[in-house]
Amino acid sequence: MAKADFEVPELKEYPEIPSITPGVMAHSRPFIAKPEHQEPLHFPGELVDNWQEKAIAKMGELQGKYRSLQVYLDSCVKCGACTDKCHYFLGTKDPKNMPVARQDLYRKVYRRYFTFAGKYFPKLVGAVDLTKEVLDDWYSYFHQCSQCRRCSVFCPYGIDTAEISMAAREVMDSIGVGQKYCNEIIGKVFRIGNNLGLPEPALADTLEGLEEDVEDETGVKVRYPLDEEGAEVLLITPSADFFAEPHVDGLIGYGKVFHQAGISWTLSSAASEAANFGMFIGSYENMRRVSLRIREAALDLGVKRIVFGECGHAWRVAYSFLNTLAGPFDFLDPRYPVPQHICEVTHDLIQRGALTLDKSANDDMVLTYHDSCNVARASRMGNKPGGQFSIPRDIIKASCNHFVDMAPDTIHDSTFCCGGGGGLLTDDLMEIRVKGAMPRMQALKQVVEENGVTHMAAICAICKSQFTKVLPYYGFSMDKIVSVHQLVSNAIVLGDKE
Ligand code: SF4
Ligand code: SF4
Repeated sequence: MAKADFEVPELKEYPEIPSITPGVMAHSRPFIAKPEHQEPLHFPGELVDNWQEKAIAKMGELQGKYRSLQVYLDSCVKCGACTDKCHYFLGTKDPKNMPVARQDLYRKVYRRYFTFAGKYFPKLVGAVDLTKEVLDDWYSYFHQCSQCRRCSVFCPYGIDTAEISMAAREVMDSIGVGQKYCNEIIGKVFRIGNNLGLPEPALADTLEGLEEDVEDETGVKVRYPLDEEGAEVLLITPSADFFAEPHVDGLIGYGKVFHQAGISWTLSSAASEAANFGMFIGSYENMRRVSLRIREAALDLGVKRIVFGECGHAWRVAYSFLNTLAGPFDFLDPRYPVPQHICEVTHDLIQRGALTLDKSANDDMVLTYHDSCNVARASRMGNKPGGQFSIPRDIIKASCNHFVDMAPDTIHDSTFCCGGGGGLLTDDLMEIRVKGAMPRMQALKQVVEENGVTHMAAICAICKSQFTKVLPYYGFSMDKIVSVHQLVSNAIVLGDKE
């Protein structure tokens, strides 16, 4: 079991609503961005002098721009339905991690400056001034929200705390209080093309190595092309797929699927990253700048289709916003959706009998599946409602003989976040990441004990990285997490179809 310098939550037999411990996570704060992380994103380098005035003006601007934000701020009736739905509250017991309380950090300031009652009778309506103490609370608790939207599923008004967290982060960035992890990464995407700062020669080298490994293992020359003009498909995938475990096994799988289906494809060194951290910081401008790289790469390479690899929030941005941010994509083949998910491609090929899968290749595993929140609650897949739940499961079941779902209230749109989404996948937030993973770990433990589950599959790079890190804190081995396309890769029969 991994050692922690904080208390790791105990996994109980049944989920329990904890008694509250006020302020227990107030100390959890990610590193603040330095001027060199802020400025490339067009944010002030440090806290500006007239920060209160600027922050309030920004709040007003966002309320005008995003009408949903205004509605969410006005419509909460304090029914309490969301209070026990956040994994960070369940894992930390801190009442400010209840979704309604998190929203209230913003709402109280909103009331003070933007409502009649708040301006003249602040105490009566719980309105507060935007003080440095309040700003510190914002920085702490809006970085304890993974923007997973679980709370919104249970709110009778559909209030989306994720959107309020995004707005709070955008306000903080605009006055010079950004988060180092997210902003440094976005800067790397602008400078180099991906989150990890991998330059073109490193990518080319890695892909060449993959080709050699796959040929050694299978005897088949499967290609992993980079910057190949005229390919049919441009694959946009998280940079973790290039080398991290278990991500790279997924990339190997995508290549085998394209090879076997006879689809020419390429990666791009200029757009070598699916992730779009602009969403985590609520910055439309930066989300757009990141998305435009994909459009430019597609035009430069002359591809006909854009396909996204296994990355949860990248798919949320791609599915929900890519056409608005970087469209129109009228230069692509109109017979395919823009964009497409790699799971849609593989699923379609399986349905059409274009792939042969030997399920026994995965007989050493009993699988379960973790629905990643951004796929489950913020996007869809395929042309049927619920495709984001059924398509990955269909692929797993076509590739493996042994599959078991976790408890119904922890999957599909009730899925629990891995604990590391929303820009929290950084070591300076290890405590909140481990504690926030507790509800998922509890559901996993149940199927491990009752059904002999040995591995959990996922289609999100953040989930895979987060689980690799937090599984050992709960007594599981880090290799329990696998890519869905790793299972396809194991099972796919390469070569001529019989
Ligand atoms: S969006 Fe997710 S992390 Fe944020 S408050 Fe709601 S349940 Fe918690
Ligand atoms: S469930 Fe919705 S209305 Fe009820 S307290 Fe939570 S945010 Fe407010």
